Amino acid sequence: MNSPQSPSPSASSQAPDSGRNIDPSEVAKFQALAAKWWDPNAEFKPLHQINPLRLDWIDGHAALSGKRVVDVGCGGGILTEAMALKGAQVLGIDMADKPLKVARLHALESGTSAQYRQMLAEELAAEVGSGQSGLFDVVTCMEMLEHVPDPESTIRACSAMVRPGGWVFFSTLNRNPKSFLFAIIGAEYVLNLLPKGTHDYGKFIRPSELGGAVRRSGLEMVDLIGMTLNPFSGQYRLVKGDVSVNYLMACRKPDPAGPA
Ligand code: SAH
Repeated sequence: MNSPQSPSPSASSQAPDSGRNIDPSEVAKFQALAAKWWDPNAEFKPLHQINPLRLDWIDGHAALSGKRVVDVGCGGGILTEAMALKGAQVLGIDMADKPLKVARLHALESGTSAQYRQMLAEELAAEVGSGQSGLFDVVTCMEMLEHVPDPESTIRACSAMVRPGGWVFFSTLNRNPKSFLFAIIGAEYVLNLLPKGTHDYGKFIRPSELGGAVRRSGLEMVDLIGMTLNPFSGQYRLVKGDVSVNYLMACRKPDPAGPA
């Protein structure tokens, strides 16, 4: 585990998988837990708890029904399926094959239309760029940037996949002494909300850093909101103005042809 003084993640960090933007040790964590993905009381309980909040927030901005959506780093498909149930046509992508298998099985059982592919955001962006896949109306990339070696490359890929006027949503963890205390010590060691080693403090991303990368990728930040956990009630809330630990950012690709 890194100390709170660790440097920020940089776009120049080495991707250990022969130059691809993937850290095999990060993906291995999610492979190992795949079978637990849909157990609302197991390791992914926090994702189940925050799902209705983030789904409503995304839907409020992007009106998901009928939209073509890609969910980057979808894991077992908790958000992917929920967006499909809102009437979106959703593709989930991830580099861990076991969570994807779980996601496909769950979609069959629940009868939702979500599709899944094992690939990097950069690879799908290349397909979109070459015309093999069309542009997406909405891109979601939640709780994933803090697990990749080069988050800025993922952000660029998300931007490249969305149509002018379309939406891109990110969520991640802020990097400061409070987030170290809450997201690592509190969540992994005191409350046992997450398995120990789930998060690496040095990979957390400040909103200003995410905002900079978003702008450099050609997106405009439209909304920034925090997500807080009340440790006594166990309830999560979206809170304007408190982005000190978990936060979500809504972005749009400018549309030169006018409002979408
Ligand atoms: N976005 C989902 C799952 C978050 S868990 C949700 O919020 O419900 C983080 C996910 O990112 C895991 O499924 C993990 O396999 C995936 N991941 C990690 N590195 C990745 C990479 N380089 N490319 C694609 N997915 C990756």
